[in-house]
Amino acid sequence: MSSANQISRRDLLKQASTLAITPLAISPKKWTTINQNYSNKPSAVVVGAGAFGGWTALYLLCQGYDVTLCDTWGPGNARASSGGETRLVRCMYGDKRIYFDLARRALTLWKEHQAQFNQQVFYPTGLLIFCQMEHYDYAEQARPLYQEAQMPLERLSPDEIQQYFPLARTDDLNHAVYDPSAGFVLARQACAEVVDQFIREGGTFRQTHALPVTTQKEALEKVKLSDGSTLTADCYVFAGGPWLGSTFPELLQDKLRVTRQPVFMFGLPPQFSTTLAKQPLPTWMNRDLADQERHYGVPGNDHRGFKIGWAPANVEAFDPTHDNRLVHPKEVKQARELLAYRFPFMKDAPLLESRVCQHTDTFDKHFIMDRHPELTNTWILGGGSGHAFKHAPALGELASHLIAEKEQVPALFSFSRFTAAAGFTQQHH
Ligand SMILES: Cc1cc2nc3c(=O)[nH]c(=O)nc-3n(C[C@H](O)[C@H](O)[C@H](O)COP(=O)(O)OP(=O)(O)OC[C@H]3O[C@@H](n4cnc5c(N)ncnc54)[C@H](O)[C@@H]3O)c2cc1C
Repeated sequence: MSSANQISRRDLLKQASTLAITPLAISPKKWTTINQNYSNKPSAVVVGAGAFGGWTALYLLCQGYDVTLCDTWGPGNARASSGGETRLVRCMYGDKRIYFDLARRALTLWKEHQAQFNQQVFYPTGLLIFCQMEHYDYAEQARPLYQEAQMPLERLSPDEIQQYFPLARTDDLNHAVYDPSAGFVLARQACAEVVDQFIREGGTFRQTHALPVTTQKEALEKVKLSDGSTLTADCYVFAGGPWLGSTFPELLQDKLRVTRQPVFMFGLPPQFSTTLAKQPLPTWMNRDLADQERHYGVPGNDHRGFKIGWAPANVEAFDPTHDNRLVHPKEVKQARELLAYRFPFMKDAPLLESRVCQHTDTFDKHFIMDRHPELTNTWILGGGSGHAFKHAPALGELASHLIAEKEQVPALFSFSRFTAAAGFTQQHH
Protein backbone atom coordinates (compact mmCIF):
# COMPACT_ATOMS: atom_id res chain seq x y z
CA MET A 1 0.00 0.00 0.00
CA SER A 2 2.74 2.46 0.86
CA SER A 3 4.63 4.13 -1.92
CA ALA A 4 6.93 7.11 -2.17
CA ASN A 5 3.98 9.27 -3.13
CA GLN A 6 1.81 8.29 -0.23
CA ILE A 7 2.05 9.83 3.17
CA SER A 8 3.12 7.80 6.15
CA ARG A 9 0.73 6.92 8.98
CA ARG A 10 2.55 9.40 11.19
CA ASP A 11 2.13 12.18 8.58
CA LEU A 12 -1.49 11.26 8.10
CA LEU A 13 -2.20 11.51 11.81
CA LYS A 14 -0.34 14.78 11.99
CA GLN A 15 -2.24 16.16 9.01
CA ALA A 16 -5.58 14.93 10.25
CA SER A 17 -5.04 16.65 13.56
CA THR A 18 -3.61 19.91 12.31
CA LEU A 19 -4.99 20.66 8.85
CA ALA A 20 -8.27 22.05 10.00
CA ILE A 21 -6.86 24.38 12.62
CA THR A 22 -3.63 25.56 11.04
CA PRO A 23 -3.99 28.97 9.39
CA LEU A 24 -3.43 28.66 5.67
CA ALA A 25 0.07 29.59 4.59
CA ILE A 26 -0.88 31.75 1.63
CA SER A 27 1.34 34.45 0.31
CA PRO A 28 -0.52 37.75 0.14
CA LYS A 29 0.07 37.81 -3.61
CA LYS A 30 -2.05 40.45 -5.33
CA TRP A 31 -4.29 39.01 -7.95
CA THR A 32 -3.10 40.53 -11.23
CA THR A 33 -5.34 43.17 -12.74
CA ILE A 34 -4.09 42.70 -16.27
CA ASN A 35 -7.21 44.41 -17.55
CA GLN A 36 -5.82 47.81 -16.61
CA ASN A 37 -3.37 47.53 -19.51
CA TYR A 38 -6.06 47.20 -22.18
CA SER A 39 -7.44 50.05 -24.23
CA ASN A 40 -10.63 49.69 -26.32
CA LYS A 41 -11.79 46.92 -24.05
CA PRO A 42 -14.33 44.44 -25.35
CA SER A 43 -17.45 44.36 -23.21
CA ALA A 44 -19.33 41.47 -21.64
CA VAL A 45 -22.58 41.09 -19.75
CA VAL A 46 -22.65 38.07 -17.42
CA VAL A 47 -26.07 36.96 -16.16
CA GLY A 48 -25.96 34.99 -12.89
CA ALA A 49 -23.53 35.47 -9.99
CA GLY A 50 -23.34 31.87 -8.79
CA ALA A 51 -20.44 29.43 -9.08
CA PHE A 52 -20.21 29.73 -12.85
CA GLY A 53 -21.17 33.36 -13.44
CA GLY A 54 -19.39 35.13 -10.57
CA TRP A 55 -16.03 33.54 -11.26
CA THR A 56 -16.39 33.98 -15.03
CA ALA A 57 -17.12 37.68 -14.57
CA LEU A 58 -14.03 38.01 -12.36
CA TYR A 59 -11.78 36.20 -14.83
CA LEU A 60 -13.16 38.11 -17.83
CA LEU A 61 -11.77 41.24 -16.17
CA CYS A 62 -8.43 39.50 -16.28
CA GLN A 63 -8.86 38.96 -20.03
CA GLY A 64 -9.34 42.70 -20.50
CA TYR A 65 -13.13 42.80 -20.70
CA ASP A 66 -15.32 45.56 -19.37
CA VAL A 67 -17.78 43.41 -17.44
CA THR A 68 -21.26 43.95 -16.05
CA LEU A 69 -22.54 41.14 -13.84
CA CYS A 70 -26.30 40.87 -13.19
CA ASP A 71 -28.13 38.73 -10.67
CA THR A 72 -31.82 38.86 -9.82
CA TRP A 73 -31.40 38.13 -6.11
CA GLY A 74 -27.66 38.58 -5.56
CA PRO A 75 -24.62 36.27 -5.30
CA GLY A 76 -25.23 33.03 -3.39
CA ASN A 77 -28.87 33.94 -2.70
CA ALA A 78 -31.08 31.44 -0.88
CA ARG A 79 -32.72 30.20 -4.11
CA ALA A 80 -29.46 29.75 -6.02
CA SER A 81 -27.73 26.36 -6.17
CA SER A 82 -24.61 28.10 -4.87
CA GLY A 83 -26.53 29.52 -1.91
CA GLY A 84 -25.91 26.66 0.54
CA GLU A 85 -23.66 26.75 3.60
CA THR A 86 -20.90 24.43 2.44
CA ARG A 87 -19.75 22.47 -0.59
CA LEU A 88 -17.29 19.56 -0.65
CA VAL A 89 -14.02 20.07 -2.49
CA ARG A 90 -12.17 17.01 -3.78
CA CYS A 91 -10.05 16.10 -6.76
CA MET A 92 -11.26 12.50 -6.82
CA TYR A 93 -13.24 11.83 -10.00
CA GLY A 94 -12.34 8.25 -10.85
CA ASP A 95 -10.28 8.25 -14.03
CA LYS A 96 -11.79 11.51 -15.33
CA ARG A 97 -8.68 13.58 -15.79
CA ILE A 98 -10.54 16.70 -16.91
CA TYR A 99 -12.28 16.98 -13.53
CA PHE A 100 -9.16 16.00 -11.59
CA ASP A 101 -7.24 18.76 -13.35
CA LEU A 102 -10.02 21.32 -12.90
CA ALA A 103 -10.40 20.50 -9.21
CA ARG A 104 -6.66 20.62 -8.65
CA ARG A 105 -6.41 23.98 -10.36
CA ALA A 106 -9.42 25.16 -8.34
CA LEU A 107 -7.71 24.12 -5.09
CA THR A 108 -4.81 26.40 -5.93
CA LEU A 109 -7.13 29.22 -6.94
CA TRP A 110 -9.36 28.91 -3.86
CA LYS A 111 -6.27 29.38 -1.71
CA GLU A 112 -4.89 32.24 -3.81
CA HIS A 113 -8.15 34.13 -3.96
CA GLN A 114 -9.05 33.77 -0.33
CA ALA A 115 -5.89 35.68 0.49
CA GLN A 116 -7.76 38.63 -1.12
CA PHE A 117 -11.07 37.83 0.53
CA ASN A 118 -12.30 39.15 3.87
CA GLN A 119 -12.55 35.66 5.33
CA GLN A 120 -11.31 32.11 4.95
CA VAL A 121 -13.64 30.19 2.63
CA PHE A 122 -11.69 26.97 1.98
CA TYR A 123 -11.21 24.57 4.90
CA PRO A 124 -8.72 21.74 4.20
CA THR A 125 -10.28 19.19 6.52
CA GLY A 126 -9.60 16.23 4.23
CA LEU A 127 -12.21 13.75 2.95
CA LEU A 128 -12.92 10.30 4.39
CA ILE A 129 -14.84 7.83 2.21
CA PHE A 130 -16.28 4.95 4.22
CA CYS A 131 -16.27 1.85 1.99
CA GLN A 132 -18.08 -1.42 2.67
CA MET A 133 -16.68 -2.96 -0.52
CA GLU A 134 -13.14 -4.23 -0.91
CA HIS A 135 -12.46 -2.23 -4.04
CA TYR A 136 -13.93 1.18 -4.41
CA ASP A 137 -13.31 1.55 -8.13
CA TYR A 138 -13.84 5.28 -8.21
CA ALA A 139 -10.95 5.84 -5.79
CA GLU A 140 -8.74 3.17 -7.32
CA GLN A 141 -9.20 4.67 -10.79
CA ALA A 142 -8.21 8.05 -9.39
CA ARG A 143 -5.07 6.74 -7.68
CA PRO A 144 -2.75 7.04 -10.72
CA LEU A 145 -3.77 10.69 -11.15
CA TYR A 146 -3.03 11.39 -7.49
CA GLN A 147 0.30 9.60 -7.76
CA GLU A 148 1.26 11.50 -10.89
CA ALA A 149 0.43 14.79 -9.12
CA GLN A 150 2.26 13.58 -6.00
CA MET A 151 -0.88 13.99 -3.94
CA PRO A 152 -1.47 11.48 -1.15
CA LEU A 153 -4.48 9.18 -1.20
CA GLU A 154 -4.57 6.77 1.73
CA ARG A 155 -6.34 3.47 2.26
CA LEU A 156 -7.16 2.97 5.95
CA SER A 157 -8.17 -0.25 7.66
CA PRO A 158 -11.10 -0.15 10.12
CA ASP A 159 -8.57 -0.19 12.98
CA GLU A 160 -6.74 2.77 11.52
CA ILE A 161 -10.00 4.67 11.04
CA GLN A 162 -10.79 3.98 14.71
CA GLN A 163 -7.37 5.21 15.72
CA TYR A 164 -7.48 8.48 13.78
CA PHE A 165 -11.23 9.19 13.71
CA PRO A 166 -12.66 7.40 16.77
CA LEU A 167 -16.09 9.02 16.47
CA ALA A 168 -16.95 7.08 13.32
CA ARG A 169 -18.57 3.62 13.30
CA THR A 170 -16.32 1.11 11.54
CA ASP A 171 -17.64 -2.41 12.27
CA ASP A 172 -19.37 -2.66 8.86
CA LEU A 173 -16.43 -1.29 6.86
CA ASN A 174 -13.86 -2.94 4.65
CA HIS A 175 -11.71 0.21 4.59
CA ALA A 176 -11.82 3.95 4.13
CA VAL A 177 -10.14 6.14 1.55
CA TYR A 178 -8.63 9.29 3.02
CA ASP A 179 -7.84 12.27 0.81
CA PRO A 180 -6.03 14.92 2.86
CA SER A 181 -6.06 17.49 0.02
CA ALA A 182 -9.86 17.71 0.09
CA GLY A 183 -12.08 19.83 2.32
CA PHE A 184 -14.99 22.17 2.01
CA VAL A 185 -15.76 25.74 1.01
CA LEU A 186 -18.24 28.13 2.52
CA ALA A 187 -20.54 28.45 -0.49
CA ARG A 188 -22.71 31.52 -0.14
CA GLN A 189 -19.93 33.49 1.54
CA ALA A 190 -17.54 32.59 -1.29
CA CYS A 191 -20.03 33.87 -3.90
CA ALA A 192 -20.34 37.16 -2.06
CA GLU A 193 -16.54 37.45 -1.72
CA VAL A 194 -16.11 36.83 -5.46
CA VAL A 195 -18.49 39.66 -6.32
CA ASP A 196 -16.74 41.92 -3.81
CA GLN A 197 -13.43 41.14 -5.46
CA PHE A 198 -14.98 41.63 -8.92
CA ILE A 199 -16.15 45.12 -7.88
CA ARG A 200 -12.77 45.96 -6.34
CA GLU A 201 -11.08 44.93 -9.60
CA GLY A 202 -13.26 47.31 -11.63
CA GLY A 203 -16.34 45.24 -12.57
CA THR A 204 -19.91 46.52 -12.35
CA PHE A 205 -22.48 44.50 -10.41
CA ARG A 206 -26.20 45.10 -10.86
CA GLN A 207 -28.88 43.36 -8.86
CA THR A 208 -31.43 42.89 -11.62
CA HIS A 209 -33.14 40.26 -13.69
CA ALA A 210 -31.74 40.13 -17.23
CA LEU A 211 -33.29 38.41 -20.20
CA PRO A 212 -31.95 37.95 -23.72
CA VAL A 213 -33.49 39.94 -26.57
CA THR A 214 -32.87 38.10 -29.81
CA THR A 215 -32.98 39.42 -33.32
CA GLN A 216 -33.20 37.87 -36.75
CA LYS A 217 -29.42 37.90 -36.95
CA GLU A 218 -27.05 35.29 -35.58
CA ALA A 219 -26.17 37.38 -32.57
CA LEU A 220 -27.91 38.52 -29.42
CA GLU A 221 -28.71 42.20 -29.60
CA LYS A 222 -29.13 43.12 -25.93
CA VAL A 223 -30.42 42.03 -22.56
CA LYS A 224 -33.51 43.56 -21.02
CA LEU A 225 -33.39 44.36 -17.31
CA SER A 226 -36.16 44.34 -14.70
CA ASP A 227 -36.56 48.14 -14.80
CA GLY A 228 -37.18 48.03 -18.57
CA SER A 229 -33.74 49.35 -19.51
CA THR A 230 -31.34 47.38 -21.71
CA LEU A 231 -27.64 46.54 -21.74
CA THR A 232 -25.61 45.90 -24.87
CA ALA A 233 -22.18 44.28 -25.03
CA ASP A 234 -19.81 42.51 -27.38
CA CYS A 235 -20.55 39.24 -25.70
CA TYR A 236 -23.16 37.79 -23.37
CA VAL A 237 -22.70 35.00 -20.86
CA PHE A 238 -25.70 33.24 -19.34
CA ALA A 239 -24.91 31.37 -16.13
CA GLY A 240 -28.38 31.22 -14.61
CA GLY A 241 -28.06 27.77 -13.02
CA PRO A 242 -31.52 26.20 -12.60
CA TRP A 243 -33.15 29.11 -14.45
CA LEU A 244 -31.21 28.53 -17.68
CA GLY A 245 -33.93 26.22 -19.05
CA SER A 246 -36.58 28.92 -18.75
CA THR A 247 -34.27 31.59 -20.19
CA PHE A 248 -33.53 29.51 -23.30
CA PRO A 249 -36.45 27.04 -23.41
CA GLU A 250 -35.99 25.88 -26.99
CA LEU A 251 -32.30 25.18 -26.58
CA LEU A 252 -32.13 23.88 -23.03
CA GLN A 253 -35.37 22.43 -21.78
CA ASP A 254 -34.60 18.90 -22.96
CA LYS A 255 -30.94 19.22 -21.92
CA LEU A 256 -31.31 20.32 -18.31
CA ARG A 257 -33.31 18.82 -15.51
CA VAL A 258 -33.75 20.64 -12.20
CA THR A 259 -34.15 18.35 -9.19
CA ARG A 260 -35.02 18.79 -5.53
CA GLN A 261 -32.17 18.19 -3.04
CA PRO A 262 -32.72 18.33 0.73
CA VAL A 263 -29.87 18.91 3.21
CA PHE A 264 -29.88 18.86 7.00
CA MET A 265 -27.71 20.36 9.72
CA PHE A 266 -27.72 18.76 13.17
CA GLY A 267 -26.38 20.28 16.38
CA LEU A 268 -23.31 18.70 17.95
CA PRO A 269 -23.90 17.29 21.43
CA PRO A 270 -22.38 19.74 23.97
CA GLN A 271 -19.73 17.27 25.14
CA PHE A 272 -18.31 17.09 21.59
CA SER A 273 -18.83 20.63 20.37
CA THR A 274 -15.62 22.10 21.82
CA THR A 275 -13.40 19.26 20.64
CA LEU A 276 -14.88 19.19 17.17
CA ALA A 277 -14.81 22.96 16.80
CA LYS A 278 -11.04 22.81 17.40
CA GLN A 279 -10.40 19.66 15.44
CA PRO A 280 -13.22 18.94 13.00
CA LEU A 281 -13.70 15.56 11.44
CA PRO A 282 -12.98 15.42 7.73
CA THR A 283 -15.80 15.80 5.25
CA TRP A 284 -17.12 12.32 4.53
CA MET A 285 -19.02 10.07 2.13
CA ASN A 286 -20.56 6.62 2.52
CA ARG A 287 -20.25 3.89 -0.08
CA ASP A 288 -22.16 0.64 0.42
CA LEU A 289 -21.45 -2.70 -1.23
CA ALA A 290 -23.28 -1.83 -4.42
CA ASP A 291 -22.03 1.77 -4.39
CA GLN A 292 -25.68 2.85 -4.24
CA GLU A 293 -25.88 4.57 -0.88
CA ARG A 294 -24.35 7.94 -1.48
CA HIS A 295 -24.54 10.04 1.66
CA TYR A 296 -22.12 12.82 2.33
CA GLY A 297 -21.52 15.33 5.03
CA VAL A 298 -19.56 18.19 6.46
CA PRO A 299 -19.07 17.70 10.18
CA GLY A 300 -19.44 21.27 11.35
CA ASN A 301 -18.64 24.72 10.12
CA ASP A 302 -19.01 28.12 11.61
CA HIS A 303 -21.35 26.80 14.32
CA ARG A 304 -23.97 25.81 11.73
CA GLY A 305 -24.07 22.13 12.64
CA PHE A 306 -23.13 18.75 11.24
CA LYS A 307 -24.40 18.57 7.67
CA ILE A 308 -25.76 15.51 5.91
CA GLY A 309 -27.17 15.22 2.41
CA TRP A 310 -27.67 12.46 -0.12
CA ALA A 311 -28.56 11.87 -3.72
CA PRO A 312 -32.19 10.66 -3.56
CA ALA A 313 -32.88 7.55 -5.64
CA ASN A 314 -36.07 9.06 -7.07
CA VAL A 315 -35.39 12.67 -7.87
CA GLU A 316 -38.28 15.10 -7.99
CA ALA A 317 -38.45 17.89 -10.56
CA PHE A 318 -38.20 21.30 -8.92
CA ASP A 319 -39.15 24.85 -9.85
CA PRO A 320 -36.40 27.01 -8.35
CA THR A 321 -38.60 30.10 -8.06
CA HIS A 322 -41.94 28.78 -6.86
CA ASP A 323 -41.58 25.35 -5.32
CA ASN A 324 -41.84 24.81 -1.59
CA ARG A 325 -38.47 24.54 0.17
CA LEU A 326 -39.67 22.70 3.26
CA VAL A 327 -38.34 19.22 3.99
CA HIS A 328 -40.68 16.31 4.75
CA PRO A 329 -40.74 14.81 8.27
CA LYS A 330 -39.80 11.40 6.80
CA GLU A 331 -36.67 13.00 5.32
CA VAL A 332 -35.67 14.40 8.72
CA LYS A 333 -36.08 10.90 10.18
CA GLN A 334 -34.01 9.41 7.36
CA ALA A 335 -31.28 12.05 7.79
CA ARG A 336 -31.10 11.43 11.53
CA GLU A 337 -30.89 7.66 11.06
CA LEU A 338 -28.20 7.88 8.37
CA LEU A 339 -26.13 10.22 10.47
CA ALA A 340 -26.49 8.20 13.67
CA TYR A 341 -25.60 5.00 11.83
CA ARG A 342 -22.17 6.26 10.83
CA PHE A 343 -21.66 8.65 13.77
CA PRO A 344 -23.42 7.10 16.79
CA PHE A 345 -22.59 10.10 18.99
CA MET A 346 -25.09 12.11 16.86
CA LYS A 347 -28.01 9.79 17.73
CA ASP A 348 -30.17 12.33 19.55
CA ALA A 349 -28.74 15.44 17.96
CA PRO A 350 -31.23 18.25 17.44
CA LEU A 351 -32.00 19.42 13.92
CA LEU A 352 -30.66 22.98 13.63
CA GLU A 353 -31.52 23.76 10.05
CA SER A 354 -32.79 22.14 6.87
CA ARG A 355 -32.77 23.38 3.30
CA VAL A 356 -34.08 22.35 -0.05
CA CYS A 357 -31.69 23.24 -2.81
CA GLN A 358 -31.68 22.06 -6.42
CA HIS A 359 -29.32 20.43 -8.86
CA THR A 360 -29.32 21.34 -12.55
CA ASP A 361 -28.44 18.06 -14.24
CA THR A 362 -27.42 17.23 -17.77
CA PHE A 363 -28.11 13.69 -18.98
CA ASP A 364 -24.46 12.70 -18.59
CA LYS A 365 -23.74 14.91 -15.52
CA HIS A 366 -21.11 16.86 -17.44
CA PHE A 367 -21.25 20.66 -17.52
CA ILE A 368 -22.27 22.88 -20.42
CA MET A 369 -19.66 25.50 -21.27
CA ASP A 370 -20.15 26.40 -24.88
CA ARG A 371 -21.22 29.05 -27.32
CA HIS A 372 -24.94 29.18 -28.03
CA PRO A 373 -25.33 27.11 -31.21
CA GLU A 374 -27.21 29.91 -32.98
CA LEU A 375 -25.96 33.10 -31.35
CA THR A 376 -22.29 33.65 -31.99
CA ASN A 377 -21.81 36.29 -29.26
CA THR A 378 -23.57 34.30 -26.53
CA TRP A 379 -22.19 31.70 -24.12
CA ILE A 380 -24.05 29.26 -21.91
CA LEU A 381 -22.44 28.05 -18.67
CA GLY A 382 -24.18 25.64 -16.35
CA GLY A 383 -25.53 22.13 -15.94
CA GLY A 384 -23.55 21.89 -12.68
CA SER A 385 -25.14 18.46 -12.04
CA GLY A 386 -24.47 18.58 -8.31
CA HIS A 387 -20.69 18.89 -8.53
CA ALA A 388 -19.64 22.25 -10.00
CA PHE A 389 -18.98 24.35 -6.93
CA LYS A 390 -15.61 22.90 -6.03
CA HIS A 391 -14.33 23.71 -9.53
CA ALA A 392 -15.77 27.23 -9.63
CA PRO A 393 -12.56 29.32 -9.79
CA ALA A 394 -11.10 27.00 -12.43
CA LEU A 395 -14.38 27.05 -14.38
CA GLY A 396 -14.33 30.85 -14.35
CA GLU A 397 -10.77 30.86 -15.58
CA LEU A 398 -11.55 28.31 -18.30
CA ALA A 399 -14.71 30.15 -19.41
CA SER A 400 -12.77 33.40 -19.74
CA HIS A 401 -10.23 31.63 -21.95
CA LEU A 402 -12.98 30.11 -24.11
CA ILE A 403 -14.73 33.44 -24.54
CA ALA A 404 -11.45 35.20 -25.35
CA GLU A 405 -10.78 32.36 -27.83
CA LYS A 406 -7.59 31.28 -26.07
CA GLU A 407 -8.80 27.72 -25.57
CA GLN A 408 -11.15 25.33 -27.36
CA VAL A 409 -14.35 24.14 -25.75
CA PRO A 410 -13.67 20.69 -24.20
CA ALA A 411 -15.78 18.11 -26.06
CA LEU A 412 -17.22 16.90 -22.75
CA PHE A 413 -18.74 20.34 -22.07
CA SER A 414 -19.92 21.07 -25.62
CA PHE A 415 -23.39 21.24 -27.12
CA SER A 416 -22.27 18.88 -29.87
CA ARG A 417 -22.38 15.95 -27.42
CA PHE A 418 -26.16 16.42 -27.20
CA THR A 419 -26.77 16.08 -30.93
CA ALA A 420 -26.58 12.30 -30.92
CA ALA A 421 -28.55 12.15 -27.70
CA ALA A 422 -32.17 12.99 -27.02
CA GLY A 423 -31.57 14.75 -23.70
CA PHE A 424 -32.89 12.69 -20.84
CA THR A 425 -33.76 9.63 -22.88
CA GLN A 426 -30.03 8.82 -22.48
CA GLN A 427 -28.94 6.75 -19.52
CA HIS A 428 -27.20 8.50 -16.64
CA HIS A 429 -23.80 7.23 -15.66
C1 LIG B 1 -27.62 20.40 -1.82
C2 LIG B 1 -26.48 20.60 -2.79
C3 LIG B 1 -25.23 20.11 -2.47
C4 LIG B 1 -24.18 20.28 -3.35
N1 LIG B 1 -22.94 19.84 -2.99
C5 LIG B 1 -21.88 20.10 -3.77
C6 LIG B 1 -20.60 19.75 -3.33
O1 LIG B 1 -20.43 19.22 -2.24
N2 LIG B 1 -19.55 20.06 -4.14
C7 LIG B 1 -19.72 20.65 -5.35
O2 LIG B 1 -18.72 20.86 -6.05
N3 LIG B 1 -20.94 21.01 -5.78
C8 LIG B 1 -22.02 20.74 -5.03
N4 LIG B 1 -23.27 21.11 -5.43
C9 LIG B 1 -23.45 21.66 -6.78
C10 LIG B 1 -23.14 23.14 -6.88
O3 LIG B 1 -23.60 23.82 -5.75
C11 LIG B 1 -23.77 23.66 -8.16
O4 LIG B 1 -23.33 22.88 -9.26
C12 LIG B 1 -23.38 25.11 -8.42
O5 LIG B 1 -23.61 25.89 -7.28
C13 LIG B 1 -24.19 25.64 -9.59
O6 LIG B 1 -23.86 26.99 -9.79
P1 LIG B 1 -24.56 27.84 -10.93
O7 LIG B 1 -23.75 29.07 -11.08
O8 LIG B 1 -24.78 27.01 -12.15
O9 LIG B 1 -26.04 28.16 -10.43
P2 LIG B 1 -26.58 29.13 -9.26
O10 LIG B 1 -25.72 29.08 -8.07
O11 LIG B 1 -28.01 28.80 -9.08
O12 LIG B 1 -26.44 30.57 -9.86
C14 LIG B 1 -27.31 31.07 -10.83
C15 LIG B 1 -27.55 32.53 -10.52
O13 LIG B 1 -28.19 33.13 -11.63
C16 LIG B 1 -29.13 34.05 -11.18
N5 LIG B 1 -30.08 34.20 -12.31
C17 LIG B 1 -30.74 33.22 -12.96
N6 LIG B 1 -31.44 33.72 -13.99
C18 LIG B 1 -31.20 35.05 -14.00
C19 LIG B 1 -31.64 36.12 -14.83
N7 LIG B 1 -32.44 35.92 -15.88
N8 LIG B 1 -31.21 37.36 -14.55
C20 LIG B 1 -30.38 37.59 -13.50
N9 LIG B 1 -29.94 36.62 -12.68
C21 LIG B 1 -30.34 35.36 -12.93
C22 LIG B 1 -29.71 33.44 -9.90
O14 LIG B 1 -30.25 34.39 -9.02
C23 LIG B 1 -28.48 32.75 -9.32
O15 LIG B 1 -27.82 33.55 -8.36
C24 LIG B 1 -24.37 20.94 -4.59
C25 LIG B 1 -25.64 21.44 -4.91
C26 LIG B 1 -26.68 21.27 -4.02
C27 LIG B 1 -28.03 21.84 -4.39
